[in-house]
Amino acid sequence: MSDLHVIIAQGGLGGLALAQGLQQAGISVAVHEKDPGPDFRNQGYRVRINPDGITALKALLAPQAFEVFAATAGTPGARMDSFDHRLSLLHAQELPVVEDLPGGGHLAVNRRTLRQILLAGVEKSVHYGSALTRYETHRSDTVTAFFADGTSATGDVLIGADGVNSATRRQRLPEAQVVGAGLRLLYGKVPLTGDAARELVPSELLGLWTTVIGPQWRFLGLAPVQYREPQHEVTARLAPEIKLSNDSDYLACVFGARREQLPCADDQLFAMNGAELQAMTLSLLEGWHPRLAEIVSHQDPASIFPVSVRTSVPVTAWETNAVTLLGDAIHAMSPAIGVGANTALRDARVLTSSLVEAAAGRPLTDALRAYEDEMRDYGFDAVRESAERGHRLVGQDRLPEPQLPPTGNAHQQN
Ligand SMILES: Cc1cc2nc3c(=O)[nH]c(=O)nc-3n(C[C@H](O)[C@H](O)[C@H](O)COP(=O)(O)OP(=O)(O)OC[C@H]3O[C@@H](n4cnc5c(N)ncnc54)[C@H](O)[C@@H]3O)c2cc1C
Repeated sequence: MSDLHVIIAQGGLGGLALAQGLQQAGISVAVHEKDPGPDFRNQGYRVRINPDGITALKALLAPQAFEVFAATAGTPGARMDSFDHRLSLLHAQELPVVEDLPGGGHLAVNRRTLRQILLAGVEKSVHYGSALTRYETHRSDTVTAFFADGTSATGDVLIGADGVNSATRRQRLPEAQVVGAGLRLLYGKVPLTGDAARELVPSELLGLWTTVIGPQWRFLGLAPVQYREPQHEVTARLAPEIKLSNDSDYLACVFGARREQLPCADDQLFAMNGAELQAMTLSLLEGWHPRLAEIVSHQDPASIFPVSVRTSVPVTAWETNAVTLLGDAIHAMSPAIGVGANTALRDARVLTSSLVEAAAGRPLTDALRAYEDEMRDYGFDAVRESAERGHRLVGQDRLPEPQLPPTGNAHQQN
């Protein structure tokens, strides 16, 4: 084990992937997660994992855990077609297949399953109920993180992987903004178990992701998660030490609209229960192909929740110190190209390599700067591409101009 000690603020997808990579490399790591436990929130929506995400997980997970990930993922193929609201094909698209990756590089997972795989083997390093509130950097090149429960932890590096509302980012890069994108999503799941449920969704709507675009930029996104083997059989066969909750086939069924298209304000929207959100979606699908309303009417009301889409605004380079950022904490993006989680996983891979070099003697600041330079390029490219596609397809607000840091201090250090 090297002398380096890494503190990660969060236990979501990016931070846990990083913890896995560091632990595999023999680097000491502690994860501080604000939730009181691993199952505190509904952790289970469908996430598409693309070649970047798969490559990252292959590099970071132990081989059996990677096999469990690949065997518990759906393989929906590479079709991403768009239809109009009468179900006439608007645009057929087939993404390139990467032969040597599982599912040709296109997998669909339940976020809860992926999170359980990412937790396996690092559980002892995760502290729950530990919300970062602030940090202090020291002359000795160490950093102390302070938590809401009154505790603190000191290490050589602090990684803020604490999601879109990152407390780490607020202190580290106060000029970095996260703004609303003008869109609301009503996310739900349609069970796909039993013949009747399977017959509900025609095969042309069961690609990797299908977008149905209606009038006034309203849209419906459809994406299946279909398993090839029950989770407990996969783990019994490959890695009995990994404990997964069972899950059944489902279709992610997401209605989206500009906020002014919804008949209520946000405070009402976020107070509604699943049945109310479903009824509102159905009322907004009037005049659409009856099969689409039928699919929405089969959503499990308990699975429906609203999302206010937000995006980061890219910022220019900052001066590197012992505190850096990863995933949504620095490059939150709209879901228009479906790569937020994949980019967080890629960050975890790139940052693990940098920290492994630091553990082997490369100056830590050099190693972190190399990570930040690379991450800013692909991370903010993804933010811009998501905003551009979201604007063109469903009326997402354009990105505002970035705010400049305070005059004369382009490299503010915190
Ligand atoms: C409905 C939906 C569908 C999506 N589908 C896709 C998809 O198909 N493909 C894709 O690539 N992306 C998708 N995304 C985006 C993706 O989920 C996020 O980009 C990804 O989870 C970001 O990972 P992260 O590790 O940065 O943050 P998160 O996974 O959000 O984790 C943040 C964690 O930090 C914790 N935390 C917050 N504050 C603190 C604090 N102060 N101290 C300690 N811990 C804290 C939180 O409890 C949470 O566990 C989707 C998002 C949504 C909402």
